[in-house]
Amino acid sequence: MLSYRKELWFDVPGRRAFINITPQVEQVLAESRIREGLALVNAMHITASVFINDDESGLHSDYEAWLEKLAPHEPLSHYNHNRTGEDNGDAHLKRQVMGREVVVAVTQGKLDFGPWEQIFYGEFDGGRRKRVLIKIIGE
Ligand code: ZN
Repeated sequence: MLSYRKELWFDVPGRRAFINITPQVEQVLAESRIREGLALVNAMHITASVFINDDESGLHSDYEAWLEKLAPHEPLSHYNHNRTGEDNGDAHLKRQVMGREVVVAVTQGKLDFGPWEQIFYGEFDGGRRKRVLIKIIGE
């Protein structure tokens, strides 16, 4: 069995963003030379997500509005976590809802997606460098 590991780095200037990372994951899969197997893609930070859905701007603004309704950034005093002196209580909750990782089947050297599936990095507490791990195993 072969395995291949790579990290992607992000530095989102604002607090929140959704970034389509499918081209980067496809690039790493090509480097891996693995033709059949599984690709794991996970956020390495507890205020960021990796998830799969449609690359459609209306959907992304719906996510933003929905997550802000579920866990509004302010008032900061709303979150016990912020008593630590942090201001990202909301970002931890948003990450939980959107998920930590995805696993995609690798078939004939390609990511074996369903219709319209794309991989996204979801940032909920930007302004600093953060990582995504890609681990591909197979043959
Ligand atoms: Zn925190």
